[in-house]
Amino acid sequence: MPPPHRDLSRSNAQFRKAVKRLPLGVSSTFRYWGDDRTIYVKRGKGGRLWDIDDNAYVDYRLAYGPAILGYADDRVDAAARRGMEVGGVFALSTEMEFTVADRIARMVPAAELVRFSNSGTEAVMAALRLARAHTGREQYLLVEGSYHGLFDAAMWQANVEDWTPGSNKDPEVIPYGKGIPPSVRQLAHLTPMNDLQRLEDTFKAHGEQLAAMLIEPIQGNCCAIMARVEYVQLARQLCDRYGVMLIIDEVKSGFRVGKGGIQGLMGVRPDITTFAKAVANGYPIALVAGREDVMRSFRYGGASHGGTYTAHSVSLAAADECLRILDETPALETLAQHGRNLMTGISRILNARGITHSYSGHPSMFGLFFDAIPPDNYRAWKTSDYTFYDTMAQYLHDLGVIVEPDSREPWFMCESHGLDPACLTETLAAVEQAVDLTMEQLAAEAAS
Ligand code: PMP
Repeated sequence: MPPPHRDLSRSNAQFRKAVKRLPLGVSSTFRYWGDDRTIYVKRGKGGRLWDIDDNAYVDYRLAYGPAILGYADDRVDAAARRGMEVGGVFALSTEMEFTVADRIARMVPAAELVRFSNSGTEAVMAALRLARAHTGREQYLLVEGSYHGLFDAAMWQANVEDWTPGSNKDPEVIPYGKGIPPSVRQLAHLTPMNDLQRLEDTFKAHGEQLAAMLIEPIQGNCCAIMARVEYVQLARQLCDRYGVMLIIDEVKSGFRVGKGGIQGLMGVRPDITTFAKAVANGYPIALVAGREDVMRSFRYGGASHGGTYTAHSVSLAAADECLRILDETPALETLAQHGRNLMTGISRILNARGITHSYSGHPSMFGLFFDAIPPDNYRAWKTSDYTFYDTMAQYLHDLGVIVEPDSREPWFMCESHGLDPACLTETLAAVEQAVDLTMEQLAAEAAS
Protein backbone atom coordinates (compact mmCIF):
# COMPACT_ATOMS: atom_id res chain seq x y z
CA MET A 1 0.00 0.00 0.00
CA PRO A 2 1.54 3.38 -0.96
CA PRO A 3 2.05 5.70 2.03
CA PRO A 4 -0.46 8.56 2.08
CA HIS A 5 0.76 11.92 0.88
CA ARG A 6 -0.29 15.11 2.63
CA ASP A 7 0.76 18.48 1.28
CA LEU A 8 2.09 20.59 4.15
CA SER A 9 3.99 23.14 2.06
CA ARG A 10 2.19 26.16 3.51
CA SER A 11 2.51 24.89 7.06
CA ASN A 12 6.20 24.21 6.46
CA ALA A 13 6.70 27.73 5.11
CA GLN A 14 4.78 29.16 8.08
CA PHE A 15 7.01 27.16 10.42
CA ARG A 16 10.15 28.65 8.86
CA LYS A 17 8.68 32.13 9.31
CA ALA A 18 7.24 31.56 12.79
CA VAL A 19 10.39 30.08 14.26
CA LYS A 20 12.10 33.45 13.81
CA ARG A 21 9.82 35.00 16.44
CA LEU A 22 8.37 32.06 18.40
CA PRO A 23 10.43 29.36 20.16
CA LEU A 24 9.90 26.17 18.11
CA GLY A 25 7.54 28.23 15.96
CA VAL A 26 4.62 27.64 18.34
CA SER A 27 3.03 28.94 21.54
CA SER A 28 3.02 25.67 23.47
CA THR A 29 5.84 23.16 23.17
CA PHE A 30 3.41 20.27 22.48
CA ARG A 31 2.22 21.96 19.29
CA TYR A 32 5.62 21.42 17.71
CA TRP A 33 5.56 18.10 15.82
CA GLY A 34 8.86 18.50 13.95
CA ASP A 35 10.09 21.09 11.44
CA ASP A 36 8.18 19.47 8.58
CA ARG A 37 5.12 18.08 10.44
CA THR A 38 4.03 21.06 12.55
CA ILE A 39 0.66 22.20 11.28
CA TYR A 40 -0.94 25.62 11.41
CA VAL A 41 -4.70 25.79 11.67
CA LYS A 42 -6.88 27.87 9.37
CA ARG A 43 -10.10 27.18 11.25
CA GLY A 44 -12.09 24.66 13.22
CA LYS A 45 -15.80 23.88 13.10
CA GLY A 46 -17.60 21.13 14.98
CA GLY A 47 -15.36 18.10 15.38
CA ARG A 48 -13.22 19.07 12.42
CA LEU A 49 -10.38 21.42 11.61
CA TRP A 50 -8.60 22.60 8.48
CA ASP A 51 -4.94 23.52 8.20
CA ILE A 52 -3.54 26.34 6.08
CA ASP A 53 -2.85 23.84 3.26
CA ASP A 54 -6.60 23.07 3.29
CA ASN A 55 -6.08 19.55 4.59
CA ALA A 56 -9.25 18.56 6.45
CA TYR A 57 -9.15 16.56 9.67
CA VAL A 58 -11.55 14.95 12.09
CA ASP A 59 -10.02 16.05 15.39
CA TYR A 60 -9.91 13.81 18.47
CA ARG A 61 -7.14 15.76 20.14
CA LEU A 62 -9.69 18.52 20.35
CA ALA A 63 -7.38 21.06 21.99
CA TYR A 64 -6.95 18.49 24.81
CA GLY A 65 -10.64 18.56 25.57
CA PRO A 66 -12.17 22.03 25.82
CA ALA A 67 -14.31 21.90 22.67
CA ILE A 68 -16.91 19.67 24.32
CA LEU A 69 -19.64 20.69 21.87
CA GLY A 70 -17.31 21.24 18.91
CA TYR A 71 -15.27 24.16 17.62
CA ALA A 72 -17.05 27.47 16.94
CA ASP A 73 -20.35 26.29 18.38
CA ASP A 74 -22.98 28.79 17.20
CA ARG A 75 -24.90 28.77 20.50
CA VAL A 76 -21.86 29.40 22.69
CA ASP A 77 -20.33 31.92 20.30
CA ALA A 78 -23.57 33.93 20.22
CA ALA A 79 -23.50 34.02 24.03
CA ALA A 80 -19.83 35.05 23.99
CA ARG A 81 -20.72 37.97 21.69
CA ARG A 82 -23.37 39.06 24.19
CA GLY A 83 -20.70 38.80 26.87
CA MET A 84 -18.49 41.11 24.84
CA GLU A 85 -21.18 43.79 25.05
CA VAL A 86 -20.85 43.70 28.85
CA GLY A 87 -17.34 45.07 28.59
CA GLY A 88 -14.74 42.52 29.65
CA VAL A 89 -13.19 42.92 33.10
CA PHE A 90 -13.70 45.68 35.63
CA ALA A 91 -11.88 44.63 38.81
CA LEU A 92 -15.48 44.48 40.04
CA SER A 93 -18.12 41.77 39.94
CA THR A 94 -21.09 41.08 37.68
CA GLU A 95 -24.41 39.30 38.26
CA MET A 96 -23.48 36.49 35.89
CA GLU A 97 -20.88 35.15 38.36
CA PHE A 98 -23.64 34.02 40.72
CA THR A 99 -25.74 32.62 37.87
CA VAL A 100 -22.89 30.40 36.67
CA ALA A 101 -21.73 29.41 40.17
CA ASP A 102 -25.29 28.47 41.08
CA ARG A 103 -25.66 26.20 38.05
CA ILE A 104 -22.30 24.57 38.81
CA ALA A 105 -23.35 23.91 42.42
CA ARG A 106 -26.51 22.21 41.14
CA MET A 107 -24.54 20.06 38.69
CA VAL A 108 -21.67 19.20 41.06
CA PRO A 109 -22.80 18.76 44.67
CA ALA A 110 -19.26 19.19 46.10
CA ALA A 111 -19.02 22.63 44.45
CA GLU A 112 -20.85 24.38 47.27
CA LEU A 113 -18.93 27.59 46.61
CA VAL A 114 -17.06 28.57 43.46
CA ARG A 115 -14.18 30.86 42.53
CA PHE A 116 -13.30 31.49 38.89
CA SER A 117 -9.80 31.29 37.42
CA ASN A 118 -8.50 31.55 33.86
CA SER A 119 -6.75 28.23 33.32
CA GLY A 120 -6.46 24.77 34.80
CA THR A 121 -3.02 25.64 36.15
CA GLU A 122 -4.34 28.68 37.98
CA ALA A 123 -7.27 26.75 39.42
CA VAL A 124 -5.11 23.91 40.77
CA MET A 125 -2.60 26.42 42.15
CA ALA A 126 -5.44 28.13 43.97
CA ALA A 127 -6.78 24.78 45.21
CA LEU A 128 -3.43 23.82 46.71
CA ARG A 129 -3.00 27.23 48.32
CA LEU A 130 -6.51 26.97 49.73
CA ALA A 131 -5.76 23.51 51.18
CA ARG A 132 -2.58 24.85 52.77
CA ALA A 133 -4.38 27.89 54.16
CA HIS A 134 -7.15 25.74 55.58
CA THR A 135 -4.93 23.07 57.16
CA GLY A 136 -1.88 25.18 58.07
CA ARG A 137 0.30 22.44 56.48
CA GLU A 138 2.64 22.55 53.49
CA GLN A 139 3.23 19.06 52.11
CA TYR A 140 1.05 17.35 49.53
CA LEU A 141 0.59 14.01 47.82
CA LEU A 142 0.49 13.45 44.06
CA VAL A 143 -0.38 10.26 42.19
CA GLU A 144 2.13 8.96 39.63
CA GLY A 145 1.05 9.76 36.07
CA SER A 146 -0.98 12.81 37.07
CA TYR A 147 -0.64 16.21 35.50
CA HIS A 148 -1.94 19.25 37.32
CA GLY A 149 -0.53 22.14 35.32
CA LEU A 150 2.55 24.22 34.79
CA PHE A 151 3.45 25.42 38.27
CA ASP A 152 6.51 24.33 40.22
CA ALA A 153 4.70 22.44 42.99
CA ALA A 154 2.89 20.19 40.51
CA MET A 155 5.76 19.60 38.13
CA TRP A 156 7.21 16.47 39.72
CA GLN A 157 6.79 13.16 37.98
CA ALA A 158 7.76 9.53 38.35
CA ASN A 159 10.43 8.82 35.74
CA VAL A 160 8.75 5.67 34.46
CA GLU A 161 10.46 5.94 31.07
CA ASP A 162 13.84 5.15 32.68
CA TRP A 163 12.46 2.71 35.24
CA THR A 164 12.82 -1.06 35.01
CA PRO A 165 9.46 -2.88 35.24
CA GLY A 166 9.43 -5.38 38.06
CA SER A 167 12.20 -3.57 39.91
CA ASN A 168 11.62 -3.27 43.66
CA LYS A 169 12.65 0.37 43.56
CA ASP A 170 10.25 3.25 42.89
CA PRO A 171 10.82 5.28 39.74
CA GLU A 172 12.96 8.33 40.41
CA VAL A 173 11.01 11.54 41.02
CA ILE A 174 12.15 14.16 38.53
CA PRO A 175 10.97 17.64 37.50
CA TYR A 176 9.04 18.02 34.23
CA GLY A 177 11.84 20.16 32.89
CA LYS A 178 14.54 22.65 33.73
CA GLY A 179 13.93 25.71 35.90
CA ILE A 180 12.04 23.97 38.71
CA PRO A 181 13.89 24.44 42.00
CA PRO A 182 14.80 21.15 43.73
CA SER A 183 13.83 22.75 47.06
CA VAL A 184 10.15 22.55 45.97
CA ARG A 185 10.48 18.77 45.72
CA GLN A 186 10.88 18.43 49.49
CA LEU A 187 7.19 19.13 49.99
CA ALA A 188 5.89 16.70 47.35
CA HIS A 189 5.20 12.99 47.81
CA LEU A 190 4.24 10.61 45.00
CA THR A 191 2.35 7.35 45.19
CA PRO A 192 1.37 4.82 42.49
CA MET A 193 -2.25 4.84 41.33
CA ASN A 194 -4.49 2.00 42.54
CA ASP A 195 -1.99 0.65 45.09
CA LEU A 196 -4.14 0.71 48.22
CA GLN A 197 -1.41 -0.54 50.55
CA ARG A 198 1.05 2.10 49.39
CA LEU A 199 -1.58 4.78 49.90
CA GLU A 200 -2.19 3.66 53.49
CA ASP A 201 1.56 3.51 54.15
CA THR A 202 2.11 6.98 52.72
CA PHE A 203 -0.61 8.44 54.94
CA LYS A 204 0.82 6.58 57.96
CA ALA A 205 4.23 8.07 57.30
CA HIS A 206 3.26 11.60 56.22
CA GLY A 207 -0.49 12.06 56.79
CA GLU A 208 -0.08 14.49 59.70
CA GLN A 209 2.03 16.80 57.52
CA LEU A 210 -0.10 16.70 54.37
CA ALA A 211 -2.25 19.67 53.41
CA ALA A 212 -3.72 17.88 50.38
CA MET A 213 -3.89 14.82 48.23
CA LEU A 214 -4.41 15.67 44.56
CA ILE A 215 -5.91 13.07 42.28
CA GLU A 216 -7.26 12.83 38.74
CA PRO A 217 -9.50 9.72 38.95
CA ILE A 218 -9.25 9.57 35.15
CA GLN A 219 -5.67 10.45 34.30
CA GLY A 220 -6.25 12.80 31.42
CA ASN A 221 -2.58 13.02 30.55
CA CYS A 222 -1.73 9.39 31.14
CA CYS A 223 -3.76 7.14 28.85
CA ALA A 224 -7.01 7.89 30.69
CA ILE A 225 -5.90 5.39 33.35
CA MET A 226 -8.77 5.01 35.80
CA ALA A 227 -8.60 5.00 39.54
CA ARG A 228 -10.60 2.15 41.01
CA VAL A 229 -13.58 3.40 42.99
CA GLU A 230 -12.25 1.72 46.12
CA TYR A 231 -8.94 3.57 45.67
CA VAL A 232 -10.66 6.96 45.61
CA GLN A 233 -12.89 5.90 48.51
CA LEU A 234 -9.81 4.93 50.50
CA ALA A 235 -8.23 8.29 49.65
CA ARG A 236 -11.40 9.95 50.98
CA GLN A 237 -11.27 7.95 54.23
CA LEU A 238 -7.56 8.58 54.77
CA CYS A 239 -7.95 12.30 54.09
CA ASP A 240 -10.73 12.39 56.69
CA ARG A 241 -8.68 10.44 59.21
CA TYR A 242 -5.59 12.65 58.86
CA GLY A 243 -7.31 16.02 58.28
CA VAL A 244 -6.05 16.26 54.68
CA MET A 245 -7.93 18.06 51.89
CA LEU A 246 -8.90 15.74 49.04
CA ILE A 247 -8.54 17.70 45.80
CA ILE A 248 -10.13 16.01 42.78
CA ASP A 249 -8.71 17.61 39.65
CA GLU A 250 -11.41 17.44 36.99
CA VAL A 251 -9.77 19.86 34.57
CA LYS A 252 -10.15 17.25 31.82
CA SER A 253 -12.92 14.98 33.09
CA GLY A 254 -15.23 17.71 34.40
CA PHE A 255 -18.45 18.42 32.45
CA ARG A 256 -17.30 15.68 30.06
CA VAL A 257 -17.68 12.21 31.59
CA GLY A 258 -20.94 13.30 33.18
CA LYS A 259 -22.71 16.42 34.43
CA GLY A 260 -21.22 15.90 37.87
CA GLY A 261 -17.80 14.82 36.60
CA ILE A 262 -15.96 11.67 37.56
CA GLN A 263 -16.67 12.41 41.23
CA GLY A 264 -20.37 12.13 40.40
CA LEU A 265 -19.88 8.79 38.61
CA MET A 266 -17.76 7.42 41.46
CA GLY A 267 -19.89 8.91 44.23
CA VAL A 268 -16.89 10.43 46.03
CA ARG A 269 -17.08 13.94 47.42
CA PRO A 270 -13.84 15.94 47.44
CA ASP A 271 -13.16 18.89 49.75
CA ILE A 272 -11.89 20.93 46.83
CA THR A 273 -12.30 20.35 43.11
CA THR A 274 -11.01 22.00 39.96
CA PHE A 275 -12.55 22.30 36.51
CA ALA A 276 -11.45 24.04 33.34
CA LYS A 277 -11.53 22.71 29.81
CA ALA A 278 -15.15 21.91 29.04
CA VAL A 279 -16.66 24.69 31.15
CA ALA A 280 -17.04 27.19 28.31
CA ASN A 281 -16.36 25.15 25.15
CA GLY A 282 -12.86 26.60 24.86
CA TYR A 283 -13.23 30.14 26.13
CA PRO A 284 -10.65 30.63 28.88
CA ILE A 285 -12.22 30.03 32.26
CA ALA A 286 -11.57 27.60 35.10
CA LEU A 287 -13.03 26.90 38.52
CA VAL A 288 -11.84 26.09 41.98
CA ALA A 289 -14.81 24.94 44.00
CA GLY A 290 -15.56 23.04 47.16
CA ARG A 291 -16.87 22.75 50.65
CA GLU A 292 -18.28 25.95 52.06
CA ASP A 293 -16.11 26.15 55.20
CA VAL A 294 -12.97 25.47 53.15
CA MET A 295 -13.84 27.90 50.35
CA ARG A 296 -14.50 30.68 52.86
CA SER A 297 -10.73 30.68 53.53
CA PHE A 298 -10.61 32.83 50.38
CA ARG A 299 -10.84 36.12 52.26
CA TYR A 300 -8.77 39.05 53.43
CA GLY A 301 -6.20 37.58 55.77
CA GLY A 302 -6.88 34.07 54.43
CA ALA A 303 -5.84 32.43 51.14
CA SER A 304 -5.18 34.93 48.35
CA HIS A 305 -7.09 34.55 45.14
CA GLY A 306 -7.85 36.93 42.28
CA GLY A 307 -6.40 37.88 38.94
CA THR A 308 -7.03 40.71 36.51
CA TYR A 309 -8.82 38.58 33.92
CA THR A 310 -10.80 36.44 36.36
CA ALA A 311 -14.49 36.10 35.44
CA HIS A 312 -14.12 37.92 32.12
CA SER A 313 -17.56 38.73 30.73
CA VAL A 314 -16.93 36.87 27.45
CA SER A 315 -15.82 33.65 29.15
CA LEU A 316 -18.57 33.83 31.75
CA ALA A 317 -21.29 34.27 29.14
CA ALA A 318 -19.83 31.36 27.18
CA ALA A 319 -19.71 29.25 30.35
CA ASP A 320 -23.33 30.08 31.14
CA GLU A 321 -24.48 28.85 27.73
CA CYS A 322 -22.15 25.86 27.50
CA LEU A 323 -23.12 24.59 30.96
CA ARG A 324 -26.80 25.15 30.18
CA ILE A 325 -26.44 22.96 27.09
CA LEU A 326 -24.55 20.26 29.00
CA ASP A 327 -27.07 20.37 31.83
CA GLU A 328 -30.32 20.55 29.85
CA THR A 329 -29.68 18.66 26.60
CA PRO A 330 -28.41 15.15 25.79
CA ALA A 331 -25.06 16.55 24.50
CA LEU A 332 -22.92 14.46 26.85
CA GLU A 333 -24.79 11.29 25.92
CA THR A 334 -24.40 12.13 22.21
CA LEU A 335 -20.65 12.46 22.47
CA ALA A 336 -20.24 9.41 24.72
CA GLN A 337 -22.25 7.38 22.19
CA HIS A 338 -19.89 8.52 19.45
CA GLY A 339 -17.01 7.29 21.63
CA ARG A 340 -18.71 3.91 22.08
CA ASN A 341 -19.34 3.64 18.32
CA LEU A 342 -15.75 4.54 17.62
CA MET A 343 -14.38 1.95 20.05
CA THR A 344 -16.68 -0.72 18.56
CA GLY A 345 -15.56 0.18 15.03
CA ILE A 346 -11.86 0.27 15.92
CA SER A 347 -12.17 -3.09 17.68
CA ARG A 348 -13.83 -4.60 14.61
CA ILE A 349 -10.86 -3.48 12.47
CA LEU A 350 -8.25 -4.68 14.97
CA ASN A 351 -9.99 -7.98 15.76
CA ALA A 352 -10.25 -8.78 12.05
CA ARG A 353 -6.44 -8.57 11.96
CA GLY A 354 -5.90 -10.44 15.23
CA ILE A 355 -4.45 -7.39 16.97
CA THR A 356 -4.77 -7.51 20.75
CA HIS A 357 -5.98 -4.25 22.22
CA SER A 358 -8.02 -2.68 25.00
CA TYR A 359 -9.37 0.69 26.11
CA SER A 360 -9.20 2.68 29.29
CA GLY A 361 -11.06 5.72 30.58
CA HIS A 362 -14.56 6.72 29.56
CA PRO A 363 -16.20 6.73 26.09
CA SER A 364 -15.94 10.55 26.09
CA MET A 365 -12.15 10.41 26.66
CA PHE A 366 -10.52 7.05 26.10
CA GLY A 367 -7.06 5.58 25.76
CA LEU A 368 -6.32 2.86 23.17
CA PHE A 369 -3.78 0.18 24.07
CA PHE A 370 -2.16 -2.58 22.16
CA ASP A 371 -2.29 -4.93 25.11
CA ALA A 372 -4.96 -7.30 26.46
CA ILE A 373 -5.60 -5.34 29.62
CA PRO A 374 -5.25 -1.58 29.91
CA PRO A 375 -2.70 -0.31 32.45
CA ASP A 376 -4.13 0.57 35.84
CA ASN A 377 -1.20 2.75 36.79
CA TYR A 378 1.55 4.64 35.04
CA ARG A 379 4.15 1.93 35.75
CA ALA A 380 2.04 -0.58 33.82
CA TRP A 381 1.95 1.75 30.79
CA LYS A 382 5.67 1.09 30.44
CA THR A 383 5.09 -2.63 29.91
CA SER A 384 2.43 -2.20 27.23
CA ASP A 385 3.61 -1.98 23.63
CA TYR A 386 3.08 1.55 22.38
CA THR A 387 5.19 1.32 19.20
CA PHE A 388 2.09 0.31 17.22
CA TYR A 389 0.21 3.33 18.52
CA ASP A 390 3.07 5.75 17.85
CA THR A 391 3.40 4.61 14.23
CA MET A 392 -0.35 4.53 13.64
CA ALA A 393 -0.81 8.08 14.98
CA GLN A 394 1.52 9.50 12.30
CA TYR A 395 -0.42 7.71 9.54
CA LEU A 396 -3.71 8.94 10.98
CA HIS A 397 -2.51 12.53 10.66
CA ASP A 398 -1.64 11.95 7.01
CA LEU A 399 -5.06 10.36 6.49
CA GLY A 400 -7.01 13.24 8.03
CA VAL A 401 -7.53 12.23 11.66
CA ILE A 402 -5.84 14.12 14.45
CA VAL A 403 -4.90 12.27 17.61
CA GLU A 404 -2.07 13.05 19.99
CA PRO A 405 1.13 11.42 18.70
CA ASP A 406 1.94 10.31 22.27
CA SER A 407 -0.09 7.29 23.44
CA ARG A 408 -0.45 8.86 26.88
CA GLU A 409 -3.00 11.37 25.64
CA PRO A 410 -6.61 10.15 25.34
CA TRP A 411 -8.93 10.64 22.37
CA PHE A 412 -11.57 13.30 23.09
CA MET A 413 -15.12 13.30 21.76
CA CYS A 414 -17.36 16.32 21.18
CA GLU A 415 -21.09 16.63 20.60
CA SER A 416 -20.56 17.55 16.97
CA HIS A 417 -18.74 14.25 16.27
CA GLY A 418 -21.90 12.48 17.33
CA LEU A 419 -24.22 14.70 15.29
CA ASP A 420 -22.19 14.34 12.09
CA PRO A 421 -22.37 10.65 11.01
CA ALA A 422 -19.60 11.18 8.44
CA CYS A 423 -17.15 11.69 11.32
CA LEU A 424 -17.54 8.05 12.30
CA THR A 425 -17.28 6.58 8.81
CA GLU A 426 -14.35 8.81 7.82
CA THR A 427 -12.49 8.07 11.04
CA LEU A 428 -12.95 4.32 10.75
CA ALA A 429 -11.86 4.32 7.10
CA ALA A 430 -8.70 6.19 8.11
CA VAL A 431 -8.09 3.88 11.08
CA GLU A 432 -8.39 0.81 8.85
CA GLN A 433 -5.84 2.20 6.41
CA ALA A 434 -3.53 3.41 9.19
CA VAL A 435 -3.61 0.01 10.87
CA ASP A 436 -2.67 -1.75 7.62
CA LEU A 437 0.13 0.73 6.91
CA THR A 438 1.41 0.34 10.47
CA MET A 439 1.41 -3.45 10.17
CA GLU A 440 3.31 -3.20 6.87
CA GLN A 441 5.85 -0.76 8.29
CA LEU A 442 6.49 -2.71 11.49
CA ALA A 443 6.79 -5.97 9.54
CA ALA A 444 9.30 -4.33 7.17
CA GLU A 445 11.27 -2.94 10.12
CA ALA A 446 11.30 -6.34 11.83
CA ALA A 447 12.51 -8.02 8.62
CA SER A 448 15.35 -5.57 8.02
N1 PMP B 1 -5.01 19.62 35.47
C1 PMP B 1 -5.26 18.67 34.54
C2 PMP B 1 -5.87 17.36 34.95
C3 PMP B 1 -4.99 18.93 33.20
O1 PMP B 1 -5.24 18.00 32.28
C4 PMP B 1 -4.44 20.19 32.84
C5 PMP B 1 -4.12 20.54 31.39
N2 PMP B 1 -3.94 19.53 30.50
C6 PMP B 1 -4.19 21.13 33.84
C7 PMP B 1 -4.50 20.81 35.15
C8 PMP B 1 -3.65 22.48 33.50
O2 PMP B 1 -4.58 23.20 32.77
P1 PMP B 1 -4.18 24.40 31.80
O3 PMP B 1 -3.46 23.82 30.64
O4 PMP B 1 -5.49 25.04 31.44
O5 PMP B 1 -3.33 25.33 32.60
